[in-house]
Amino acid sequence: MKSWVEVSERRLAGNYRLLRDAAGGDTAVLAVVKANAYGHGAAVCAPVLVRAGAEWLGVTDVAEGAAVQKALEVAGVARRERPGILVMSGLLREDAEEVVRLGLTPVVWLREQMEWLAEAAKRLGMGPVGVHVEIDTGMARQGVAVGVELEELVAWVRGESGIRVDGVMTHFASSEVAGSAQTVLQRRRFEEAIGVVQAADLRASWVHAGNSSTIDNEGVRNVAWLQGVAEIVGARSMVRTGIALYGYCLPIEGEGLSEVRQKLQPVMTWKTRVIGLREAEAGDTVGYNGIYCVPRAMRLALLPVGYADGVRRELSASNARAGGWAMVRGEKAPIVGRVSMNLTIVDVSGIEGVALGDEVVVLGDGVTAEDHARLAGTIAYEIVCGVRPAHRSGV
Ligand SMILES: *Cc1c(COP(=O)(O)O)cnc(C)c1O
Repeated sequence: MKSWVEVSERRLAGNYRLLRDAAGGDTAVLAVVKANAYGHGAAVCAPVLVRAGAEWLGVTDVAEGAAVQKALEVAGVARRERPGILVMSGLLREDAEEVVRLGLTPVVWLREQMEWLAEAAKRLGMGPVGVHVEIDTGMARQGVAVGVELEELVAWVRGESGIRVDGVMTHFASSEVAGSAQTVLQRRRFEEAIGVVQAADLRASWVHAGNSSTIDNEGVRNVAWLQGVAEIVGARSMVRTGIALYGYCLPIEGEGLSEVRQKLQPVMTWKTRVIGLREAEAGDTVGYNGIYCVPRAMRLALLPVGYADGVRRELSASNARAGGWAMVRGEKAPIVGRVSMNLTIVDVSGIEGVALGDEVVVLGDGVTAEDHARLAGTIAYEIVCGVRPAHRSGV
């Protein structure tokens, strides 16, 4: 096999428990497994997270929700232990029936979405559809605006017997910024929205907000605030975490790594194998455009992964600019020349005994998604989501 991902189930469960403990008290922690569990494999991760105690899983759309449900079934997670599956990013008319049939919980914010769901339930002869209503408190992406729009929606839903509002939620735009004025504003708007829901006596069971950084950055204060807001409507509070489950989190702007962040452990090890070894002489140029000229005799190893597989092209190295590296026999092997579509060359000169077929770590201990992200000018999220191995499995 060209390349594969090994997911540490122990670390994944450990990260989940760490976040739940950091949230503390009765606040639930939803585990986001969208985008194929941030590139780790939702079929591998979902059962581990449920067994670690996740009451809710988050996905983007119905197809992901159906796949996760199937994976839990295959993994033998008992029906009564099945988590709620929150479909977080929109709903199209043609999805409504499957949402209802599978018992997924959609995040909604438009009257049309709820009409489609109620119609689907009626067609299927099923009771009211439980939904979570998203409030737009400043992200301006999805959600109903606080004010007239929310009041009209709430008034309508009160008269619609096919819909049950089980949750009210919002999303923060700047949760990794310490003392963010935007978060303060978003909180105020959310409190206002909860007031409207309370006045309408909608009886939601869940109130949730935020992401990994909401726990990482001033988590104690955020959770205390969230619990207070949830209490207004007699609901349980919840924080939705994604990236931190997988061992990463954005740095808190203007501060160091939090205590929680320091304890998180990367879950993914992406491995490949040596498919070629070559003795290069001083003056040889390596790869496309010869941007790297071999300065002295070197031993080069060829790896069958490139940018099509998720090794970012920004990890390329010329003589003027160092690039990324892989871990070969536990040591750093610097990338030389351009990363190509499906091939990358690393310098293994100083590493004893490298042989054809040796396993190589592209991403894992010794080379993190944050290292890749720094070189590629992006964030760890995009790196792990971009990994396209031939296979993913739990270890
Ligand atoms: C992806 C997502 C999250 C998780 O975000 P992280 O930063 O990965 O923790 C939380 N809530 C919503 C609505 C999301 O789409």
